[in-house]
Amino acid sequence: MKEKIGRVVKVSGPLVVAEDIPQAEMYEMVYVSDKKLFGEIIEIKGNRSSIQVYEDTSGVGPGEPVYTTGQPLSVELGPGLIGSIYDGVQRPLDKLLKKYGDFVVRGAYEPALDRSKKWLFNPVVHKGDLLKTGDVIGEVQETPVIMHRILVPVGIEGKITDIIEKKEVTVEDVVAKIETTQGIKEVKLYQQWPVRIARPVLKRLPPDAPLITGQRVIDAFFPIAKGGTACVPGPFGSGKTVIQHQLSKWSDADIIIFIGCGERGNEMTDVLMEFPELTDPRTGRPLMERTILIANTSNMPVAAREASVFTGITMGEYYRDMGYNVALMADSTSRWAEAMREMSGRLEEMPGEEGYPAYLASRIASFYERAGRVVILGSKEKQATLSVIGAVSPPGGDLSDPVVQSTLRTVRVFWSLDAQLAYARHFPSIHWLRSYSLYADMLSDFYKKEMGEEWIDMRQEAMRILRRESELQEMVRLVGIDALSPKDRLIMETSRSIREDFLQQNAFMDIDTYTSLKKQYRMMRLIHLFHKLSMEALNKGVSLDKIISLPVRVDISRAKLIPENEMEKFDAVEKEIHNSFDNLVKEVQNV
Ligand code: ADP
Repeated sequence: MKEKIGRVVKVSGPLVVAEDIPQAEMYEMVYVSDKKLFGEIIEIKGNRSSIQVYEDTSGVGPGEPVYTTGQPLSVELGPGLIGSIYDGVQRPLDKLLKKYGDFVVRGAYEPALDRSKKWLFNPVVHKGDLLKTGDVIGEVQETPVIMHRILVPVGIEGKITDIIEKKEVTVEDVVAKIETTQGIKEVKLYQQWPVRIARPVLKRLPPDAPLITGQRVIDAFFPIAKGGTACVPGPFGSGKTVIQHQLSKWSDADIIIFIGCGERGNEMTDVLMEFPELTDPRTGRPLMERTILIANTSNMPVAAREASVFTGITMGEYYRDMGYNVALMADSTSRWAEAMREMSGRLEEMPGEEGYPAYLASRIASFYERAGRVVILGSKEKQATLSVIGAVSPPGGDLSDPVVQSTLRTVRVFWSLDAQLAYARHFPSIHWLRSYSLYADMLSDFYKKEMGEEWIDMRQEAMRILRRESELQEMVRLVGIDALSPKDRLIMETSRSIREDFLQQNAFMDIDTYTSLKKQYRMMRLIHLFHKLSMEALNKGVSLDKIISLPVRVDISRAKLIPENEMEKFDAVEKEIHNSFDNLVKEVQNV
């Protein structure tokens, strides 16, 4: 490594310009100065290369050496990733803490995967077997809940000439040898992968199932597909963090990857403090047993935010390639975009909108495009998904912000968090009129099968009522509530019930924090039934006042407190709704 060197000619913050780097290539990883500051070549002009350095460059000056590595910025993929906390360039923060103390010193190095840790490797193939890329060679119990599958690395296929028996090995030990057309290749527990290149798959498929989150507003109205992409723009205090925690805890993904592109001290502190404390409601064990955290430390320059995003998605693809459903959360991608703006400014590129580089949208897209439902490589046809949810924090909550707009061009779900709803303590503050999911149609077959045709109709009807409410509110503002017909007033009442009894969900209340699809269906059916019978009663001459003072409405509003294993209580409430209306109608008919 040390022979191939260039010279620094200019330093400008995280940007270092060097001359005469032998065979410099775009996105090649280099080390700047003898402090071994880690960077990536992001522009080459003639014999000059611009290097984005991921560490503080103060004290570095012209004339200092730049060492090439001949490799693109890569990550190590193997057992030990789960449960780790990495920085943007995959340095294990917990290990650095032990080695160097509270602040990561410059040039600090520690391999991403522990070289001395022993893993019990259990082979699943035999000598002589013919294997393709992506086939499973053996397994390692990575955490009590995750089985790590050791795959034939990309680019390798052929006959197994050697495979070790079940025993404890380190990530560096050779566990298998494969005879390929280019000679014998050794397989270890880990492999490397360049972060900016998507890991290959056999086939991409359209999403067909929702990522079930147990959050009613999401599952019922704005579902994200497994393998889908979503964007959550959230002004401060609108519940962005709570939503991300809820999704990490409750969504039916096998593996969670959480990228904090912010700096420590703001967005990241919560995550670093809270995540290791969270318990996985499904297993009762720490959530970290199926989670990887990526956090940028505050003494790393902004450039590292970009690395963290690509590092995270590469790890996501790796677990997807084992056949898992992976969900990745990035918080907040606005911080990454700001880093792009800063680097672009230093490179003196032509600025686009609000100073962001012209390639902002395509760079953001190159991240989200790596999500998807796919057929993974390997001899057995197997599907897996990688879903990506990105939080965006536009200044002042302004949705015309270029980062929000560029993101919306690629993602297919938009959960618009609303400051006013949050202020009114309506949580989750996902605004029902401004949010959308372009997966709703694609997933309707799933919903029809799981919840019945009726669900689709009830959902549409509910959305129609919510929309109508906002028009009616406009009218009420102009002419007053008394000008509305009883039917319109009923719409307002039902709409309020949909908002308060269905959409509002308290993340901090055990019984309300997660709602199964089955319970969502039953809750919605109560509101729907009450509305339908109210309309009929109005037609038969019952007064609206009588309807809205029916005591059974209290039962509807308390339906969210019915435990998942006592669904028969919904039958009782439905019966009570029918009885109440029978009595009201009888009353008017007897007069
Ligand atoms: P942000 O990350 O957008 O600044 P937070 O996620 O920290 O906002 O939410 C702010 C506060 O809103 C939380 O501390 C909590 O009190 C409340 N909150 C947000 N979402 C919910 C929810 N689903 N249920 C109950 N309270 C919530």
